Amino acid sequence: MNKIFFVVLDGIADNPLKDLGWKTPLECAKKPFLNKLSEEGVNGSIMLINKSIPPQTETGVLSLLGFNPLNYNTGRGPLEAVGMGLRVEKNDLVLRGNLATAENGYIIDTEAGRISGKKAEKIIGKLKKIKIRGIKIKIYHSLGYRFLLFLKSKKLSPYISSNHPGYERNKYLLEYPRALRKKMKIKKIIPLKRSKDAQFTADVLNKFIERAKEILKDEKTANYILLRGANKGLIKLTNLPKKYGGKWICLGDTPVERGISKLVGMDIARKYKNPETDKLLKTFKELKKAVRKDCKRTIKKLKSVLSRYDFFYIHLKGADAFGHKGMPLHKKKIIEYFDLFFFKPLTKLIKKDDIIIVTADHTTSCRYRTHTADPVPVLIFGDSFKPDKVKIFAESQAKRGRLGRFKAKRLIKIVCGDLKCT
Ligand SMILES: [Zn+2]
Repeated sequence: MNKIFFVVLDGIADNPLKDLGWKTPLECAKKPFLNKLSEEGVNGSIMLINKSIPPQTETGVLSLLGFNPLNYNTGRGPLEAVGMGLRVEKNDLVLRGNLATAENGYIIDTEAGRISGKKAEKIIGKLKKIKIRGIKIKIYHSLGYRFLLFLKSKKLSPYISSNHPGYERNKYLLEYPRALRKKMKIKKIIPLKRSKDAQFTADVLNKFIERAKEILKDEKTANYILLRGANKGLIKLTNLPKKYGGKWICLGDTPVERGISKLVGMDIARKYKNPETDKLLKTFKELKKAVRKDCKRTIKKLKSVLSRYDFFYIHLKGADAFGHKGMPLHKKKIIEYFDLFFFKPLTKLIKKDDIIIVTADHTTSCRYRTHTADPVPVLIFGDSFKPDKVKIFAESQAKRGRLGRFKAKRLIKIVCGDLKCT
């Protein structure tokens, strides 16, 4: 069986920008290795959900793996819990939390200045003393400013909104990102259904947030908490290795992609660790060092598991954050470093008949500083895929490729052989 390297570059796609001569960071970046894969492979453009719903990482990745996120409503909370190796019981309502900065009734930073994991862990530890009658509460620090909140009770409902200003949630529990502004009014969690349980859950969470605010009032940056992605228990997803054959493994760092991978039957390659590129990186020098370190670790791990697996899902974080912060030059630079430190060694590892797929889980627009519903480029390189005329891996070129624009659910079928590309 040939090996399949499925590489997801988090939020790499973007919109054309004036500062870059109306090109995107991906289009501008000097990336000879990625472009070679594009030139020798077949290209296309993927619609992840639909024209009006911008994907988050979990909905984007689920789409790429063939699941329609409109039907598979997992919730970010339980997914991250699985990714962290935590057990989710059917009465557990799990929410993803952020430490944040609030000022005079407004949220001014949804990530508390990206404080270090060490500091965040200490601060989150203080929240463990919050008690609410009738509810068993557990709180776990994950990476950097992030944490997970578990509420255990039969009476809880997932039909509640988020208090994170960067996300909207509809009554079908689908959460989607919206543009962040410099300061955004603090909002309360509200029920999304007229039910006693939903009202009760919203009340419990608002109480929890108020107590947290009191405890954190003397903190400089991490003085507020934001909660989102609530869901109860776990949903069942198709086991992909069983469906398509072979042994599958995930090389990802953050809990969300690890959680999805576990639920679809993949093994997880390495210990849970905060990638260097998750830190606040200002200079290109710092960025280069961080990407080099992360990629070196990924390639080393890849080599060590190469002979035992057939399908490798590799998720590289980093570019997305620069989109959210509106920093196109940094985004362009990180793509160049991925090319040098990841794609160069990857192309040396592959053998005849192996397949490389490169795509993104969503567009993160530097212009709008959030995810958009725009399609993402994809390239498929491998002996069984006859090249098309595209020579550069970029949004505008990809759609002219032979695969054209297509729905995400087709991708896994194309690469796993159910549909043959002609
Ligand atoms: Zn993402």
